[in-house]
Amino acid sequence: MKYDIIVIGSGPGGYVAAIRAAQLGFSTAVVERNELGGICLNWGCIPTKALLKSAQAIHYAQRGEEFGFYCEGVTPDITSIVSRSRVVSSTMNKGIEYLFKKNGVTVLKGSGKVLADKMVEVKAEDGTTELYEAQNIILATGSRPASLPFAPVDGEKIICYRQALVPAKLPQSLAVIGSGAIGSEFAFFYRSLGVNVTLIEFMPQILPIEDEDTAAQISRSFRKMGMKVMVSSSVKSVDTTGNLCRLVVETKKGEEIIEAEQVLSAVGVRPNTEGIGLEDLGVELVKGKVTVDENYMTSVDGLYAIGDIIATPALAHVASAEALYCVEKIAGLNPEPVNYDNIPGCTYITPEVASVGITEKKAKEQGIAYKVGKFPFTASGKATAAGARDGFVKLVVDAGTDKVLGAHLVGDNVSEMIAGIVVARNLGVTAKDMIKSVFPHPTMSEAIMEAAAAAHEECIHI
Ligand SMILES: Cc1cc2nc3c(=O)[nH]c(=O)nc-3n(C[C@H](O)[C@H](O)[C@H](O)COP(=O)(O)OP(=O)(O)OC[C@H]3O[C@@H](n4cnc5c(N)ncnc54)[C@H](O)[C@@H]3O)c2cc1C
Repeated sequence: MKYDIIVIGSGPGGYVAAIRAAQLGFSTAVVERNELGGICLNWGCIPTKALLKSAQAIHYAQRGEEFGFYCEGVTPDITSIVSRSRVVSSTMNKGIEYLFKKNGVTVLKGSGKVLADKMVEVKAEDGTTELYEAQNIILATGSRPASLPFAPVDGEKIICYRQALVPAKLPQSLAVIGSGAIGSEFAFFYRSLGVNVTLIEFMPQILPIEDEDTAAQISRSFRKMGMKVMVSSSVKSVDTTGNLCRLVVETKKGEEIIEAEQVLSAVGVRPNTEGIGLEDLGVELVKGKVTVDENYMTSVDGLYAIGDIIATPALAHVASAEALYCVEKIAGLNPEPVNYDNIPGCTYITPEVASVGITEKKAKEQGIAYKVGKFPFTASGKATAAGARDGFVKLVVDAGTDKVLGAHLVGDNVSEMIAGIVVARNLGVTAKDMIKSVFPHPTMSEAIMEAAAAAHEECIHI
């Protein structure tokens, strides 16, 4: 069988590529060995957000008195919380099946491998293989958890996000190694359910890629929840032979021993580049990631790679943006290249974190003349009414052009607010333009306009 385009992997890179390809008139097939929707829908973005929503609901129930109702003995039931999260995932992956059908994308169940001469071998679960030919092949095979050499994931005592998403029961205590978005989200979730959590970060701040003010605010909030937060701390070994795991952690003050029933390894992800034919075809890899040109083409003609297997931020929306560009380019259209300087990132704890562009520290390091405008949610009517006064909007504004170099938000629902700033940055909007725009009152988003005004020392409300 011959297709115009075969996509290997059906995550947010692969399924978006396949659907767009079919919309553009290409005969298209997707090879998938697991559930449709990839890590994102099944084991990443979506099920974590379902768990975090449960955690948030528990927090509201615990604060009932503040809102005028009484809720005695809030008892989280981990089985029901996990089962809701799995239902959410399966609802979403059925949606992908529907979209494939609607757009005429063929699903080839099995493991895909690229062979010479634009052939793709698909090995089904029962071991049988079929060969397919394609004019163009897009690799979107995603990633899997990375682990520390001295702390391999055993799925019992040392777990990764896969097991952390579906615990049969809650541990008494959990040590989380790595405080990026994934580590922080799980630390927050488990602590919300009463687990004693220690969050251990090698870098000097948690959420290492975020602005220092963001990290400081979240550190405070985690500590207030009763979490132990360790920064500039390096795990040297993990001993799992006893009842409790024993972690030797090197800190600035010397060695510290942390004991926990389970350890969650959240030290990043590794691209799925093995066993898909890359070695035989001589496809170039750098540090384990597939090298691509500006059109996402690998060193082999007609073979493309997008998403977590290339050296761009490992985020679902990045994979999807790359998919659209890649397919539209194959179709001979003139798509806008992905602007990697304007990619938002969010962490869905409470309060949420959202950011885009550079941090204040980066602006300083790069010698850019900048101004900062910051508006705290303590001064926001909507935040106060919602009982969600923690957080702020911080804008790093270019002192010369008045454009927003970076936006750093902490607060209720800020993941829903950051897109407005992404669009503004895309259009080259200045802080003055933001001040002149009328924002609805009362909203959390007013804080964006207020922060822009603060950068110009025109803020009325602080
Ligand atoms: C716990 C967690 C939470 C996350 N939360 C967020 C978030 O909130 N926001 C965000 O933007 N990102 C988040 N991410 C990251 C996001 O999930 C990934 O960046 C995204 O899924 C990458 O998309 P992809 O299409 O490259 O690959 P994937 O989603 O990993 O999909 C790859 C697919 O390819 C399949 N596959 C692999 N090899 C083969 C083969 N040989 N043959 C057939 N099929 C194959 C796999 O089975 C998989 O279905 C999270 C990740 C994790 C782990």
